[in-house]
Amino acid sequence: MKKITQKVILAAALGAALSSCSQNVAKDSLDVGIAAQIVSTNPCDAATACSNAFVNAMYKFKEDGKSDFCEELTVRKDSDLAVCEVQIRNPKFADLISSCKSQLTSKLEAIVSARNVGLKVHANVNSTEPLGLGFKLESEVQERDTSKGYYTVTGDVKPKQVILTFDDGPEPVNTLSILRTLEEAGGVKALFFELGLRVQESPETTKLVAAQGHSIGNHSWDHPNMRTIPFEQAAAQIKRTQSILLKVLGWVDPFFRFPFGNRTPQLDQMLTDNQMADFYWTIDSNDWRMVNADGTVRTNAQVVKETIAQLDKKGRGIILMHDIHRRTAELLPELLRLIAERGYTTVVLEPAQAGLKKAPPILMNQAVRLGSVQN
Ligand SMILES: [Zn+2]
Repeated sequence: MKKITQKVILAAALGAALSSCSQNVAKDSLDVGIAAQIVSTNPCDAATACSNAFVNAMYKFKEDGKSDFCEELTVRKDSDLAVCEVQIRNPKFADLISSCKSQLTSKLEAIVSARNVGLKVHANVNSTEPLGLGFKLESEVQERDTSKGYYTVTGDVKPKQVILTFDDGPEPVNTLSILRTLEEAGGVKALFFELGLRVQESPETTKLVAAQGHSIGNHSWDHPNMRTIPFEQAAAQIKRTQSILLKVLGWVDPFFRFPFGNRTPQLDQMLTDNQMADFYWTIDSNDWRMVNADGTVRTNAQVVKETIAQLDKKGRGIILMHDIHRRTAELLPELLRLIAERGYTTVVLEPAQAGLKKAPPILMNQAVRLGSVQN
């Protein structure tokens, strides 16, 4: 039922974006994007809906001869601004909100303070000061053989073991804050599923993730729903991301996660043919959801509580988070504290095949195999 509602809303967003008759298209488009996040069942659906609505609304304002988007955004309530935080902070959109960026940023900082209430420890992403966490999380490396493909939901870890995964980055500010927290929590290693487009935009951030010893996987070029595009296009997305990671790092782990978790049998076969693993998740932090169903701002304490509740129930598995979001960087110290308190070990996976990780010659062969996909 939720999915149907979401489709209707997204269709309405598209209709609003395409229409040129209404004077309120920009406002409608933004409203629809914000509403879509509230009903969406999928993190990246919501991010995309909001992003599209935001960008479409901005273009419409330009078409109407208005110089900026401030008139629309400055009157928004806090929960609306929280939904579009990523876009407001994104330097790509700075010229469209130049006259109100500092005002909006101040409002966001007030939202940040309010949403961290109730946490014992949280990160200030703009600070490089040590957090003084006072705990250490044990972590270990485990290998998985991907030579015949490998699909996993739980990571096949033992009870009381978790794999931390961060999707959709890299993001220069938030990813770095997350790296600092992981380091301070005992040199915890995680698995980052990066978008090729963002690697292209922030290659230095990807290099820092790698330098800290984390595993890095492919999460497509720009996050399409691979069930709704032709196989050749989806394969090209995977190949292009593999190529840029190889270009930036000289290696890439043979790990992949489908945007939205939306697998297809044909793409799964392609991953298997290329000795790549396909990761789903066990525990969804829902860290992307900024607003509750009742329209109030969702607090970081809520995100942590609900994530830990799932962990307590499952007892092991893969936790899904997103390093693109500032709130994820803020709440990570508290989440890790509670995971440590429960006696969990974090696990980072590496491919078992000798020399596969960080071995450009073999991975270049793999890239050649990916290159053989028709597109
Ligand atoms: Zn994603």
